[in-house]
Amino acid sequence: MTETCRRILEEYQVRKSTKQKLRFIEFLQSRYPELRLEEGGWPRCRNLILGDPDSAQVILTAHYDTCARLPFPNFITPKNLLITLAYSLVITLPFFVIPFFLEFLAVRYLPGDLWWSPLVALALGLFLVYYVFIGGPANPHTVNDNTSGVLTLCLLLDTLSPEQRAKAAFVFFDHEESGLFGSSRFARLHAKGLKNKLIVNFDCVSDGDHLFLVQSRRARKHWGERLAAAYQPREGKEIRLERSAFCFYPSDQMNFPCAVGVAALRKAPVIGYYMGRIHTARDTVMDERNLEILAEGTARLLETVQAK
Ligand SMILES: [Zn+2]
Repeated sequence: MTETCRRILEEYQVRKSTKQKLRFIEFLQSRYPELRLEEGGWPRCRNLILGDPDSAQVILTAHYDTCARLPFPNFITPKNLLITLAYSLVITLPFFVIPFFLEFLAVRYLPGDLWWSPLVALALGLFLVYYVFIGGPANPHTVNDNTSGVLTLCLLLDTLSPEQRAKAAFVFFDHEESGLFGSSRFARLHAKGLKNKLIVNFDCVSDGDHLFLVQSRRARKHWGERLAAAYQPREGKEIRLERSAFCFYPSDQMNFPCAVGVAALRKAPVIGYYMGRIHTARDTVMDERNLEILAEGTARLLETVQAK
């Protein structure tokens, strides 16, 4: 782990409020003076860019914003959409049950025509969901989601040769957690030339022995062989090349036509591959070997790209 990575892990893990983000951006700029800010949109996005994304053939990305702290994990099973959906339903439903129960009591016991009361209950439910899942206090520990992705980019910036580094652009996205807003804005602003350009997005890569590379159709067609050759496993670690049609991993790569989403998963009997600690205070696992495997693989991948 490089000095930049260590400092971020120790001092800049929480990046949710504007103040926390600006403090992190200032630190990154002190390490990488050529870092540019691309700011604007609603919610106000501050994407951080190194290199020229319009001429590079490969763009390496990770979101740097921090999620709200949840009392329960954001449980994801990419190979089993049904479990992911059922779990989301179970954790969301209670926030509607309470307002609608109160609404039921109001209609029953209060006088007058309360035709508007279901709307109020619905609005209250939506507000509760927004507050708990997005608006609430920052998660104090974000090692995997997504300090690990940020550190992967920093590790690459610190260890790639100048020739390798010149072949790629690097983007730290803002506002992933609230709805992929940062990457969506970036994709809009740089739409020209994104068609076959490879986006490699690192999100939650430090907790789990199974490294998933979830490829869009276009990425698999144009880059699949090179990706398979570049990213190589180590003892106790598995690399899995997946197709986005059969592997649901919601992150910023979904905003790009030719993209790979990289994530580390654990494996358990019955449920299979899963991610189970993110968005909680237990998000503290940093397996540096994962970052090394990904940085080495990315360096090999860049060797296959012609210089501009
Ligand atoms: Zn994330």
